[in-house]
Amino acid sequence: MSGCVFCRIARGEAPASIVYKDEEIVAFEDINPQAPYHILVIPKDHIPSIMDLSSGNIYVVGKIYNAIKEIARSKNLEKGFRVVVNCGPLAGQSVNHLHFHLLSGRRLGWPPG
Ligand code: AMP
Ligand code: ZN
Repeated sequence: MSGCVFCRIARGEAPASIVYKDEEIVAFEDINPQAPYHILVIPKDHIPSIMDLSSGNIYVVGKIYNAIKEIARSKNLEKGFRVVVNCGPLAGQSVNHLHFHLLSGRRLGWPPG
C-alpha cells in the first residue's frame, strides 16, 4: 500500500528508529511513546487489522510474538511489559496496518483506558 506509513517504514522509505528487522517483521520506536519503552512490531505485508488475518497470513502473528519475546529479553524487560493491539475506531486504531504495541518501563494500570 503506497499511502500506508507503516508499509513505507517496512520498505525503508520513511524514517524510523528500527530495533528489530527480519524478512517478515519490523519493529521500531513509536513516534509518540506512551511509556519509557514503547515500540511497534509490524508485519512487512500490509494487513489492515486483526480482522484481516486468515489461514494464509496468521503464521506471522506467531513470528511477531517470538520477536516480541526476543526484544523483551534483549532489552531486559522481564520485570514486566504489555502487548496491545487496537482493532477498529472504537478501540483507537489510528493506523490501518496491523501493529503490536510493546509497552514497558513503568507500572501499567489496569483496566486500560
Ligand atoms: P494505534 O492508535 O493503535 O493505531 O497506534 C498507532 C501508533 O502509531 C501510535 O502510537 C502512533 O504514535 C504511532 N505512529 C504513527 N505514525 C508513526 C510513525 N511514522 N513512526 C512511528 N510511530 C508512528
Ligand atoms: Zn501498510
